[in-house]
Amino acid sequence: MSESTASHGARTVGFIGLGTMGREMAANLLKAGFAVRAYDVRREAVEALAALGAYPATSAAEAADGADAAIMMLPNTPDVEAVMLGEQGLLAAVRPDCVVIDMSTIAPAAARALHERCARQGIEFVDAPVSGGPAGAHGATLSIMAGGTQQGFEAALPFFRAMGTTITHVGASGAGQTVKLCNQLVCGINIQAICEALALGRAAGVDLKQLRDVLMGGSAASWMLERLGNAMIDGDDRAGFRINLMLKDLRLVLDESFALNVPLPASSLVTSQYVDAMAHGEAGNGNQALFRVYDRMTAQHTPAAPAAQPAR
Ligand code: NAD
Repeated sequence: MSESTASHGARTVGFIGLGTMGREMAANLLKAGFAVRAYDVRREAVEALAALGAYPATSAAEAADGADAAIMMLPNTPDVEAVMLGEQGLLAAVRPDCVVIDMSTIAPAAARALHERCARQGIEFVDAPVSGGPAGAHGATLSIMAGGTQQGFEAALPFFRAMGTTITHVGASGAGQTVKLCNQLVCGINIQAICEALALGRAAGVDLKQLRDVLMGGSAASWMLERLGNAMIDGDDRAGFRINLMLKDLRLVLDESFALNVPLPASSLVTSQYVDAMAHGEAGNGNQALFRVYDRMTAQHTPAAPAAQPAR
């Protein structure tokens, strides 16, 4: 029984938010031997986790009740605030020695405020957003960037090890979210760069699959080109990481740009293109569907795509 509270047997995690990422992360906690108390507003998501051995909770408070860690993987800042502070929120139920971990991508300032709120209750709060996408969540190979006290980080570490391989304590509360936003602006601008290369190559009549393979063999290679390049060329817009979530992240990047007075011209430009994608009803498509914006700008069309997931 490693790193566990002897009187509790297997250590218990309350896991809230069982979507694209959370269901895989919670499943990996189960595989690692943790007892998981799972909650999502979508009952079918809770039942799917229960089929793997999780306890099906009916509220965030019930999921967190008695747990050693309460982990959230929710869409955005207001969702995390509601789950922590609402009437059936987890802060009403957690033990004082429970570490509260938010692995969603939210505003750094909100993470700092939640940290202060938890500190008033004597509870450790760690902001720990992730990178690596659904494949990283499934394979427990996520990169986890954590902000909080050393004590909070150490309390969260056994749980992180069940979900990720690159686990870094990047600083005080909110620092994890700041590093994640830096990650997201690099991803967004990189996707835009790939779209531009494909748009130019297409207009010139170059074989796009060959173009993608050549770029992957040289200094233009990237994680995004490797995973999204062929989907862009094939018109496969299925998510993955959705357009609406990327726009949410880029908005948070621009909020930081205003708050810290740091001009981010490339981030501003690609954010506008995500707004264009949203305006054309593409919220639920994968990130690679940014190429549709270039279809419209160049009046050229990618072959018909398989049906995309509906936006939630
Ligand atoms: P998702 O929309 O697929 O999942 C979110 C889940 O939270 C849904 O199942 C939803 O029903 C649930 N939820 C929403 N409000 C709730 C509430 N009040 N109580 C309980 N459950 C609630 O999103 P996702 O793709 O899993 O992403 C989650 C977070 O991780 C986001 O912040 C996203 O930006 C970030 N992220 C996503 C990816 C990715 O590739 N999808 C990668 C890295 C980080």
